[in-house]
Amino acid sequence: MHYVSTRGHTAQQNFSEILLGGLAPDGGLYLPQSYPQVSDDELTAWRQLSYADLALALLTKFATDIAPADLAAITAKTYVAGVYCNARPDDDASRITPLRILEEHDGRTLILQALSNGPTLAFKDMAMQLLGNLFEYTLARQDAELNIFGATSGDTGSAAEYAMRGKKGIRVFMLSPHHKMSAFQAAQMFSLQDPNIFNVAVDGVFDDCQDMVKAVSNDLEFKKRQKIGTVNSINWVRVVAQVVYYFRGYLSATTSNEQKVSFTVPSGNFGNICAGHIARMMGLPIDKLVVATNENDVLDEFFRTGVYRVRKSAETWHTTSPSMDISKASNFERFIYDLLGRDAVRVAALFKKVDTEGGFDLSGKPGSDGDEFKQIARFGFESGKSVHADRLATIRQVEKKYGITVDTHTADGIKVALEHLQQGVPMIVLETALPAKFNETILEALGRDAERPAGFEHIEALPQRFDVMSTDVAAMKSYIAQHTGL
Ligand SMILES: *Cc1c(COP(=O)(O)O)cnc(C)c1O
Repeated sequence: MHYVSTRGHTAQQNFSEILLGGLAPDGGLYLPQSYPQVSDDELTAWRQLSYADLALALLTKFATDIAPADLAAITAKTYVAGVYCNARPDDDASRITPLRILEEHDGRTLILQALSNGPTLAFKDMAMQLLGNLFEYTLARQDAELNIFGATSGDTGSAAEYAMRGKKGIRVFMLSPHHKMSAFQAAQMFSLQDPNIFNVAVDGVFDDCQDMVKAVSNDLEFKKRQKIGTVNSINWVRVVAQVVYYFRGYLSATTSNEQKVSFTVPSGNFGNICAGHIARMMGLPIDKLVVATNENDVLDEFFRTGVYRVRKSAETWHTTSPSMDISKASNFERFIYDLLGRDAVRVAALFKKVDTEGGFDLSGKPGSDGDEFKQIARFGFESGKSVHADRLATIRQVEKKYGITVDTHTADGIKVALEHLQQGVPMIVLETALPAKFNETILEALGRDAERPAGFEHIEALPQRFDVMSTDVAAMKSYIAQHTGL
């Protein structure tokens, strides 16, 4: 299996070669040359598989340059019940991403698929845990080391740290805005005592942290000498790992391959739902893929109008579903590539226009950049939006009707899913975080605290290990050099 760039760079790369990298050299994103297809017989056989074996069956199609026995060891180690042990007491943790039927009557079926039972209580663990094990394996074979350097406002940074902690050949340097994360999120990251994890709390906001990462990464000589890498959401392995739970969800919700299901996905950078698109392109019988956004509705606007208009920082709202607060969707280019019939020249032109003019228009209206908006239905995409008042109402309604508490992002998903629910097609909403992570809003909605999984009761009281730094790029560089010894 070879990988190509959405902007046309064709030096064919295999899976291991793009594993540690980010963007393609031409600024595009990697995708497989063609999507492997899943046959009816395979799908039937996969109904019996454990999550780890299903992950192996799918990854074997994409990672053709890794020995199958090695891949089997990696997936077996990654997808074990002990790692995804934070399931609700009456959910089956051994299923890794257990389904819970919320409602089933008159042919209307609403299902929740729990993706947030991993160590950091958010769905990013599903992919990051695999990435950690694949990194360790690949680095050991190359006798190499890697220093991951990034900025986080919460979920990504902690998922990366929990995936990389204690891994040989890897260090993590993670910047976060000092005193800006929730107490729970800060405690999760800062309580890690592993010597290969370095938390740096920056006196500033998240954008300042990101600017520091950019400034350091632009020093190519430093980056090379210090073996700096990233784990951001455009990483192909993260996307492919997410394809697995769409298959698991479909296979668990159906008994025959004649049946279809739809998915609703709380979306920000379009990474999660991009994996759903790929599963559908591989032949998984998905009817609709419903994008749910919050007040930051870049994607909802596109799927309603065909106009992609990225937002400025001043128009990017801080909401109570903060992991969906984006101004542009970094994985969106992968879908646009398929929507344009894989015309890399046009994709390159459109995303250049995003940089220079802030967006593009595929509505087909006079003066637009194309008319592919009318093709969108063929790919199953629909969308909707949910705002703070909707989140509060949904959290209350879900607790009253179904007896469980959901987090704010999942509430956005459920609100939008109910607007797109169709008779005869089960709707699976992906649960992207557990409510304990966003307790402030649970308290506002329900007047009580969210349940905490066992082991998280006193997390804020654990000893914390982090360094505080100003937004000084030179000081950041010497901090890294001092700890890597390179
Ligand atoms: C990251 C995240 C999202 C958004 O996922 P994308 O892949 O960026 O679309 C939604 N909910 C939670 C809880 C997240 O952490």
